[in-house]
Amino acid sequence: MSAAAWLMAAPALWAGYTWGSHLLTLGSAWRGPRAGRRVALTFDDGPDPEQTPRVLDILAAHGATATFFLIGQRAARAGALVRRIAAAGHDLGNHTWSHRSLWLSGPRETGRQVRQGHDAIAQAAGAPPRFFRPPWGMTNLALFAELRGLATPCVFWTAQTEGRSPASPALQVERARRRIGPGTILDLHDADGVRGAGARLVEALPAMISMLAAEGYSLAPLRDLL
Ligand SMILES: [Zn+2]
Repeated sequence: MSAAAWLMAAPALWAGYTWGSHLLTLGSAWRGPRAGRRVALTFDDGPDPEQTPRVLDILAAHGATATFFLIGQRAARAGALVRRIAAAGHDLGNHTWSHRSLWLSGPRETGRQVRQGHDAIAQAAGAPPRFFRPPWGMTNLALFAELRGLATPCVFWTAQTEGRSPASPALQVERARRRIGPGTILDLHDADGVRGAGARLVEALPAMISMLAAEGYSLAPLRDLL
């Protein structure tokens, strides 16, 4: 049954399948431990051939390690870049095959989005992704069974510096400063979903990392934070 057919046939069932599944996200990670002063930078929607190398250069210049939630079909087109991310010691996460909303995906399409994304990243990197993050944080009931099958935890975020509408680099740094706390998982975008997101992030990132250091925070990849 296609997603559209489900929607037409059973709106209440579909609401349970999508909205209802968010009860299951209580077992997912939204932040790290509040002990200590560690935070995680996470980058979604890449790899981007132009912006991701710049992000990697900035992280390297600051001696920082982070986590990249990659879109499978973008990873499949940029194998060398995916290997560069992994070789620098950053964690890799799966952000689905094509960034399709899981609220519009039936069980079969959900399985395809999760597994094809997982496999593309594993093939490009030479090791499977450690974490999963759903596009826009939207989940459904089929997702969690898929993730259990892959032994992959679902990780959301504590704070975003730019959501669905563009935010200037200066505003992004200010939002990060206001929302930061021990264990915060910051959600950033090194590639476009929102137009220009990658370029704005690259401009904001050096000041953001300096601000975090000045506030006494150290940066950790999710494998260390969680
Ligand atoms: Zn995304």
